Amino acid sequence: MSRSLPYGRQEICDGDVEAVVEALRDELITQGPRVERFEAAFADHVGAAYAVAFSSGTAALHGAAFAAGLGPGDEVLTTPLTFVASANCALYVGATPRFVDVDRDTWNLDTSAASAAANGAVRAVVAVSYAGLPVDLKPLDAVRDRVTVIEDGCHALGGHRGGAPVGGAGGADMTAFSFHPVKAMTTGEGGAITTEDPELARRLRLFRTHGITREGTRPGSDDGPWYYEMQALGFNYRITDLQCALGTTQLVRLDAWVRRRNDIAARYRELLAGDDRLELAPAAPEGSLHGYHLFPVRIRAGAAARKLGFERLRAAGIGVQVHYIPVYRLPYYRDTLGYAQDECPAAEDVYAGLISLPMFPAMSDADVDWVVAELGTALQ
Ligand SMILES: *Cc1c(COP(=O)(O)O)cnc(C)c1O
Repeated sequence: MSRSLPYGRQEICDGDVEAVVEALRDELITQGPRVERFEAAFADHVGAAYAVAFSSGTAALHGAAFAAGLGPGDEVLTTPLTFVASANCALYVGATPRFVDVDRDTWNLDTSAASAAANGAVRAVVAVSYAGLPVDLKPLDAVRDRVTVIEDGCHALGGHRGGAPVGGAGGADMTAFSFHPVKAMTTGEGGAITTEDPELARRLRLFRTHGITREGTRPGSDDGPWYYEMQALGFNYRITDLQCALGTTQLVRLDAWVRRRNDIAARYRELLAGDDRLELAPAAPEGSLHGYHLFPVRIRAGAAARKLGFERLRAAGIGVQVHYIPVYRLPYYRDTLGYAQDECPAAEDVYAGLISLPMFPAMSDADVDWVVAELGTALQ
């Protein structure tokens, strides 16, 4: 059989399978005790006061946009170098995403530029920690009195910003995570928001369950024990007990997996260090820990060389990807919504050469060596 590697892959052990099977035999298989248990363990792990789990990372971001009170007329600043959900969450609530360029050195949202642009109708910033490098949130402190800071931490789970876990106290107002199988840990599909604010946590839970609560506040709330209220237009964005059984056993191995991701990145860096055809994924600053959901490299020669290199790596059996086409370029944004195509030159420059190399904890050192060898050949 010829050799092949995906760009990312989950790790499922016997203990994960047993935990899910056990959950499956229980009375409650959707909203049972495992959801709250997983939320508590997850919040504890990232050092947050609250975690609210959702059916996906996208649903979690939608919940964050709702909890922040965003709506029509509000503007939300984000990076173009991200998965569409980071911007779509603004559209879902009728708000308008606005793209601020990336910092050319970190490939993350230029948060100083975002802070300077946070005037007028801007009510929130969705700052993505691209590839897993914790985005610098400090420049946003200046506008936090009027702007909700949401970190899209979907790539950075298990990472640390200056020693503080991404998603914990001292970070954004809300941090979003995804538990899709290619992410740092999985629940199949799933996601979560962490926050320090009990009111945001309450609004997130309300939104996740149709806007329905038993905590009545209106006349009639003493009608009887069946009483419930729908207080807002929420969705069914619940995660299941089965998924949370998996999440709870996965969480135990998260830190070991992130360490292995950092070891793989170190090996890529060592082997590719002398290759001036490439710019490597920006590293984490001293004292911070990269999450390394991805290991993107930029081919300096640009778009044509990237296309050829990509095709050759795929032909060799290496599951490279491109993360991401700048969001404003996608037909819905460009044609339907009429977004400008020339506002983010740094994101365009980075995108033109991007290729994500395989990155997942089960990769062996020999796998890394093979990718590096094939990349060398592909760029000739
Ligand atoms: C994966 C991801 C999401 C969405 O997560 P899903 O669980 O797939 O809905 C959002 N933002 C970023 C940056 C992601 O990588």
